[in-house]
Amino acid sequence: IIELRNISKHFGSVIGIDHVDLSVEDGEFLTLLGPSGCGKSTLLRMIGGFEEPTTGSIFLSGQDVTDLPPQKRDVNMMFQDYALFPHMTVGQNIAYGLKMKGVGKADALQKAKAALELVGLPDKIDQMPHQMSGGQRQRIALARAIVREPKVLLLDEPLSALDANLREQMQVELKHIHDKLGITFIMVTHDQREALVMSDRVIVMERGRIAQDGSPQDLYEHPKTTYVANFIGTTN
Ligand code: ATP
Ligand code: MG
Repeated sequence: IIELRNISKHFGSVIGIDHVDLSVEDGEFLTLLGPSGCGKSTLLRMIGGFEEPTTGSIFLSGQDVTDLPPQKRDVNMMFQDYALFPHMTVGQNIAYGLKMKGVGKADALQKAKAALELVGLPDKIDQMPHQMSGGQRQRIALARAIVREPKVLLLDEPLSALDANLREQMQVELKHIHDKLGITFIMVTHDQREALVMSDRVIVMERGRIAQDGSPQDLYEHPKTTYVANFIGTTN
């Protein structure tokens, strides 16, 4: 379980996040949804430990992790730009983080294989990243993020670089992977359709605050404000 208590983040005079309280259950697929600049990435980065809140605290499984660096949290992040090491094979790229953690070579390779299978690329283990398409690279980045078996996976616009067809296909696959792994996913998107299709629960953000928090159906059928209604694409 993740708990954010009264989190704010100021960048000089800019208020990125403004008094946010949020708890996320184990195994949930939660999406942070909202327009550009509303604070989605900032909130996600604070959960991962890549950004420090100005005020407030973050708890993971009851432990106060507010001052802990990313490596010391049981959380992993798949980055927007999913950079892979160009001189390493796909398998080596995925196994890299495991080796850093002290996992033996054979064991790391076995785990890399399993992760590649999960993302649908079992035969790419010995290829180089430049031989992969954009969509394949994205899957590899996902495999690299899940191979360490974190309790929580943070995904910042994981499908934004894909064309419409592949994007829809990956929405389904990513949801599948979530269900299979049984870990917590927190995803950022500005695409309301994507949020509604994929998530158990959606947080709509508005200028650093939570405008509404609910199930996709709840948001769709009962938007609390015109802002939410407009963003979700319905009007009441
Ligand atoms: P997008 O959909 O465009 O990625 P976002 O919802 O992820 O937007 P954030 O990146 O979280 O938005 O930014 C929230 C606010 O905080 C914006 O006003 C942004 O300009 C500001 N901000 C974010 N990071 C910094 C920073 N490092 N320095 C200064 N201001 C920042
Ligand atoms: Mg962002």
